[in-house]
Amino acid sequence: MKLDVNAVRNDFPILQQKIYGKPLIYLDNAATTQKPNAVMQAIVRYYETLNSNVHRGNHLLSIQATDAMERARNRIASFIHAPHPEEIIFTRGTTESINLVAQGFASSLLQPGDEVIISALEHHSNLVPWQQACLRTGAQLKIIPLDESGQIRLGDFRNLLSEKTRIVAIAHVSNVLGTILPVQDIIDLAHRRGIPVLIDGAQAVQHLPIDVSQLGCDFYAFSGHKIYGPTGIGILYGKGSWLEKIPPFQFGGEMIEIVSFEKTTFNEIPFKFEAGTPNVEGIIGLAAALDYLCQIGLESIFKYETELFEYALHKLSRLDDVRIIGRAKDRCSVISFLLDHIHPYDTGTLLDQMGIAVRSGNHCAQPLIDLLNLPGTVRVSLSFYNTREEIDILITALQKVKDIFQ
Ligand code: PLP
Repeated sequence: MKLDVNAVRNDFPILQQKIYGKPLIYLDNAATTQKPNAVMQAIVRYYETLNSNVHRGNHLLSIQATDAMERARNRIASFIHAPHPEEIIFTRGTTESINLVAQGFASSLLQPGDEVIISALEHHSNLVPWQQACLRTGAQLKIIPLDESGQIRLGDFRNLLSEKTRIVAIAHVSNVLGTILPVQDIIDLAHRRGIPVLIDGAQAVQHLPIDVSQLGCDFYAFSGHKIYGPTGIGILYGKGSWLEKIPPFQFGGEMIEIVSFEKTTFNEIPFKFEAGTPNVEGIIGLAAALDYLCQIGLESIFKYETELFEYALHKLSRLDDVRIIGRAKDRCSVISFLLDHIHPYDTGTLLDQMGIAVRSGNHCAQPLIDLLNLPGTVRVSLSFYNTREEIDILITALQKVKDIFQ
């Protein structure tokens, strides 16, 4: 079914806002997405009817809240086709999900001389945790280089894999270039040598169908707030066999089995990794966001986004003095560019004054921006609630920015 963008926009109250008296054009969806009424209502309903602590009370409200939370876990598992709900760990976001795995590896699975492979286009959240894990253990970080288009060089990746490699951690979609990485090839190549693969899906899960069973990845991380859910909730999918092997990352209530003054044994997965009171409203809100997306239809959403992306790319490429950064064949949602010789911060600030929200800077990927020898980029990132008219207004606004600087 064709997506009705006007109907969709009515589901997002914030899109009716004015910024400096101009209609808001929100093109910073890679940073965070806006929330539909369905998510906000689910959170309000939770506080109005269910609020209580989970997994500990034996009163009705606590039992109902626990049921709602565990139903949400099932919902999230089915959304990414995880075979078992206990393979879904609730975290605060992609960053915490990756830290959980990196610290787990640093505690027990990395030795001096071992190697961890990431790519040159990683977000700091899939770089710094591994850098720290290597520092702690004497392991070495290996970087897959990029080709001129902004895609990873698969041949170089193959050459980096060795008997020293302990894990490969890689983005599914680049938050700077929009490149879709060949994750299936990466997983297959790594698995041929028995090496596990973590996928940072922060920029993928909201734009591409994700099937972790089919991919066969060992870990998949994403954030609720980037997929129309609340902030402060994230997901780590991990294969049960790996989650059993990794030690817990935080300690305290809920993650224990038996505690004495001398010793503690830990709960089973997923609870072993969920110390303290979880973000119940966030979990319920995230499940509501996934329900909302499925109700609209994932296929309609992805088709609409692909067409809008092509439209925006075409329009931007035709504008004089726009230099698009990253030209990989497989891309989605994110377009980075520079306008003439104008600093990206200046472009971003002037667009803001015209009601257009974009992101400018290094997008938490400093090593990539340095590698490309850029001052940063202006980044437009799209959602299914954006329209062609908004892109047209952006193009006119960029022309105005150029005129101001001339
Ligand atoms: N990985 C990628 C590719 C991202 O784009 C982001 C956020 O922009 C993150 C990780 C970190 O996500 P969060 O801040 O929600 O933990």
